[in-house]
Amino acid sequence: MALPENTLASARQWDAEDPLLSFRDEFRIPQHNGSDAVYFTGNSLGLQPKGAQAALKQELEDWARFGVEGHFEAKHPWYSYHEELTDGAAKVVGGRNDEVVMMNQLTSNLHFLLVSFYRPKGKRVKILTEQRPFPSDTYALASQIAFHGLDPKQHLVEVQPRNGEHTLRTEDILAKITELGDELALVLIGGVQFYTGQAFALEAITAKTHEVGAIAGFDLAHAAGNMPVQLHDWNVDFACWCTYKYLNSGPGSVGGAFIHQRYLKADLPRFAGWWGHDKNTRFQMGSEFSPMPTAEGWQVSNAAVFNMAIHRVSLEQFGRAGMQRLRAKALQLTGYAEAIINSISAKYNVNLEIITPSDPEERGCQLSIYAHGMGKDLFDKLTAQGISLDWREPNVIRMAPVPMYNSFEDVWRFGEALESQMKG
Ligand SMILES: *Cc1c(COP(=O)(O)O)cnc(C)c1O
Repeated sequence: MALPENTLASARQWDAEDPLLSFRDEFRIPQHNGSDAVYFTGNSLGLQPKGAQAALKQELEDWARFGVEGHFEAKHPWYSYHEELTDGAAKVVGGRNDEVVMMNQLTSNLHFLLVSFYRPKGKRVKILTEQRPFPSDTYALASQIAFHGLDPKQHLVEVQPRNGEHTLRTEDILAKITELGDELALVLIGGVQFYTGQAFALEAITAKTHEVGAIAGFDLAHAAGNMPVQLHDWNVDFACWCTYKYLNSGPGSVGGAFIHQRYLKADLPRFAGWWGHDKNTRFQMGSEFSPMPTAEGWQVSNAAVFNMAIHRVSLEQFGRAGMQRLRAKALQLTGYAEAIINSISAKYNVNLEIITPSDPEERGCQLSIYAHGMGKDLFDKLTAQGISLDWREPNVIRMAPVPMYNSFEDVWRFGEALESQMKG
């Protein structure tokens, strides 16, 4: 995107024309010196929907009023609470309703899914992941490999970027899959890389993975609610995600899991619990486990209602906003931010290198700026000006203008703050 006229008036004009404008008023925006901060850290913790308080209060009141009977008498009965989330969540990730369940949290879901989908056999033992995945994923994958009595150092393989490049080329990921061939058990990579902001070609990766006879699973922590994904149509085997980043459901909120339809009735091994048991006979309390023939068959525990209450509010917002409209606005917001950064870089002859791919198809909202020679100091000064960004070692400032509540004026204000530092 060429830098459009970059003035406060033009930014306000784009806001006025934004069909999603009214959503901003549905969020509590942190304050800085008495006015709204520029909140670009929705990729770490999304903002609080105003409806969250009433939703939580409803559950507290129903608990006070009904006690245990709230499982059936509450306005949103706790017994089946997770079922109210399925439709909205399935739309966000492009799954069928029977393929999606909200439960646990992200890394726990990854473990539960790996129990079913990582079953090393003979020489087919390796797991392929991206360079420097989020540490929790590395720990989970390595510990699963070790759990099977194998050596993670040998069998957990990372695709590396080429010399001098920050992000991965799809062709290199696909070539690595082909190279590992019948030694590859599983590909598990992020939908969007947390550090570089690169969005991976999930459909192509899935197809290539299946070609060599392996399983394709994705961690959608930074993709869910950020990129439109079509897990079912892309034939993805399984996926998991969290809801406190782009999905605005509060710290540590409930996670999500997707299991493709073709596995729902297959008798996959799993770590079972009572909430995965056929709900028609669950309370007969029998000793034989008979799983639900849906993704719910992977549940272990009963619903975490307080977390889910907030997620219910958030999914309702995503339903109204729609992933397509959110994506359209994200392309504009992020393109605008990119144009400003590049123009300031050129004007002041500094190297604010955006390591996130410049092709919008290869990124979501986030831009990761490698701040040569300025790094932490620049980050600290922007933070002091009420610009909420985050810092990732060794030298990256991440920013995510999110379409649900960020405005073009936010991006303009970020640009002003950045430029004021350059004039310093
Ligand atoms: C945020 C994030 C996590 C966090 O895991 P939790 O289990 O939710 O604490 C894990 N993996 C990735 C890729 C993430 O971005």
